Amino acid sequence: MQRRSFLKNAAVGATVSAVAVPALAQTQPTVNWRLASSFPKSLDVLFGAADTFSKRVSALTNGKFNIRPFAAGEIIPALQVVDAVQAGTVEMGHTAGYYYFGKDPAFCFDTALPFGLTARQQTAWMTQGGGMALMRDFFKDYGIINFQGGNTGTQMGGWFRKEIKTVQDLKGLKMRIAGMAGRVMSRMGVVPQQVAGGDIYPSLEKGTIDAAEWVGPYDDEKLGFNRVAPFYYAPGWWEPSAQLSFYVGIKEWEKLPKDYQAALEAASMEAHTVMMAEYDGRNPQALARLLKAGVKLRSFSKPIMEASYKEANAVFEEESAKNAKFKKIYEPWKRFRQDINQWFSVGEVPVQNFMLGKK
Ligand code: CA
Repeated sequence: MQRRSFLKNAAVGATVSAVAVPALAQTQPTVNWRLASSFPKSLDVLFGAADTFSKRVSALTNGKFNIRPFAAGEIIPALQVVDAVQAGTVEMGHTAGYYYFGKDPAFCFDTALPFGLTARQQTAWMTQGGGMALMRDFFKDYGIINFQGGNTGTQMGGWFRKEIKTVQDLKGLKMRIAGMAGRVMSRMGVVPQQVAGGDIYPSLEKGTIDAAEWVGPYDDEKLGFNRVAPFYYAPGWWEPSAQLSFYVGIKEWEKLPKDYQAALEAASMEAHTVMMAEYDGRNPQALARLLKAGVKLRSFSKPIMEASYKEANAVFEEESAKNAKFKKIYEPWKRFRQDINQWFSVGEVPVQNFMLGKK
């Protein structure tokens, strides 16, 4: 009798579990989202992060949560991604926070500040140094929840028609450079210009501008700036790294089942890590090709670096004095930068410097 009832129960148990799997799957809703990217498909690493992300989200949810990425301008203009997510026109976007500097310079902490954090330092700040909590609090006012979405690493200082040796050489220079960096540059006599990506080449060719900054060797090579401005400067001190982000509408986020939220979070971290590896893996060969094509590689002089650093700090202090949201992030960010640079100076930097002298 006991054995019989055991078998019966076991059979019932098996039936229940056999039914339970498809029943659970059936309760998982199909969710279709649109993602607006700020990048064209031709910038394959930048746009590619949205692809990596979407494919992983779909795979992790058994094809139920589908996010379709759209390139810049396909459904939303490149620099209006935040506005589109805030308005609910799209559920999410992939962009760089500092494009929205005009709304509030505090957006820069989500991407880059002059003499700010390197890629590893930025991820450490976001995930360990309280950065994510500060930025989530900031983005709440825009109805957005933010996730890390890639990094370009240290950028190049851009393309110059003439050599720049002294701070004096910067006076009156018309340079395509935006946001916080433009503000710092203007204090040194540079005349910052707003030029869209596609218009940089003809502007440099005609001499409408004297210099332009973009990203780094892999992306710059595609635009052919070396043919019209042969001096390629380093480093892009205004972008020791530039973080990209996924911005999701909070209301849409809250509607998601918990496992879809987890999938989104995991996929964003994967896309974040993959992008940095792609740039680190591809920039060396791209730079070698550029040098072979006759590009003249230069470094900004120590006086230019020192003057830029001084002006960058002045801009930060000035902004902090009038912008409470900026100050709230800036003060702990500044302490974090100090501490992590001290730590890096112990092992990381010496070993890299040592290796530079080796073949
Ligand atoms: Ca740049």
